[in-house]
Amino acid sequence: MDFGLTEEEKDIRGAAREFAEKEFPDRARECDLNDEFPRDIWKKACDLGFVATYIPEEYNGAGIGYMGTCIIVEECTRVDPGIGGIPMMVALGSEVVMLYGTEEQKKKYLSKIPTGENICCFAVTEPDAGSDVAGIKTTAVKDGDEWVLNGSKMFITNGTIADWGVFLAITDPDEKKVHRRFSTFIVDMDTEGVNATKIRGKMGLKASDTADISLSDVRVPEKNLLGERKKGFYNVMGFFDRSRVYIGAMGVGIAQGALDLALKYVKERKTFGRPLASNQGIQFELADMKTRVEASRNLIYKGAWQTDNGIENPMDVAIAKWYACESAVKNCDQSLQMHGGYGYIDEYDIERFYRAAKVTEIFEGAKQIEKMIIARGLLA
Ligand SMILES: Cc1cc2nc3c(=O)[nH]c(=O)nc-3n(C[C@H](O)[C@H](O)[C@H](O)COP(=O)(O)OP(=O)(O)OC[C@H]3O[C@@H](n4cnc5c(N)ncnc54)[C@H](O)[C@@H]3O)c2cc1C
Repeated sequence: MDFGLTEEEKDIRGAAREFAEKEFPDRARECDLNDEFPRDIWKKACDLGFVATYIPEEYNGAGIGYMGTCIIVEECTRVDPGIGGIPMMVALGSEVVMLYGTEEQKKKYLSKIPTGENICCFAVTEPDAGSDVAGIKTTAVKDGDEWVLNGSKMFITNGTIADWGVFLAITDPDEKKVHRRFSTFIVDMDTEGVNATKIRGKMGLKASDTADISLSDVRVPEKNLLGERKKGFYNVMGFFDRSRVYIGAMGVGIAQGALDLALKYVKERKTFGRPLASNQGIQFELADMKTRVEASRNLIYKGAWQTDNGIENPMDVAIAKWYACESAVKNCDQSLQMHGGYGYIDEYDIERFYRAAKVTEIFEGAKQIEKMIIARGLLA
């Protein structure tokens, strides 16, 4: 067993850290305040080869697997959770094409994500079905050599900026086995009948675009069926087993970022004539935070290593995602508390971290869903 990073992984970490520290700090507050997706930073991330790095080189990706991807995501979200999410957020859904797509689909769609020619989205959640994926109502009905999609999708990351998306729909409503009623499709977002509306008023992570999408008689060619018919539910689960690893890495980055901010503040701030850092109560809390970061990072690295080595283990991935994202929320809470009143105003970055952290416990499987997967694994 080797707990160290390879020389290549250390280089990736150094390069990602340099990029994030140079590009994000001046833009982070402004993007958050204005719900602005920073296109220029996304383009730079593409030019540097930081986007969708799990995509193999033959499709223009860096081909550095999930370990490399998690290192980049952690370093970026450590500096700012919103902008820092870009390297993987702009590619949400691309794995479904990578895993189940045809060669033609990979060349046409997948290969345009790392280069910055395209952004994609992953559209599963609906107004009345989030955690219960099999509860979605969007339909796809076959008409000649096309499929006609109707329905509504909710909370879709990149909804208004994506060029194409992976959509889950019911194709076989009469199938006895509920999970075999669904199929996945690639939908070009400029197809007639697709309407995306940006959701404003999010609590945090505002540099990331979120939208609701309506589908009204959207005609999709048969060749855009993604993976096998009736396998859509399983495709989505296959995606989650991968995306949860790097969303967990986002949790690690936020938890580490909150600790960085706390350390800086308690060394400077004095109360009762002494630096806050000299107070044992504060020191113990810093120790809690550091321990959470280390534990989370190791769980995420394990999940990434398993994924890169072809080991499917939804339970380990669920453990890692749940724990890392809860650590993000807890560390932000402790760090903000150490900042006192200053933590509550947006001049101090911890306020933005605190608002962003919460969503990591909700999307890509809320923490209760992760616990259901863990319990199912234990009781199987
Ligand atoms: C900023 C943002 C971006 C998002 N991006 C995307 C995206 O790109 N694509 C996409 O498809 N979706 C996206 N989502 C949606 C997200 O995945 C869902 O919000 C999430 O899956 C939860 O679904 P829900 O909101 O419908 O909550 P519900 O499923 O209604 O659940 C409500 C709460 O109850 C809990 N709960 C549910 N069932 C149980 C149970 N059996 N036992 C105990 N507790 C339970 C849940 O954990 C949750 O906390 C995004 C959401 C947000 C906020």
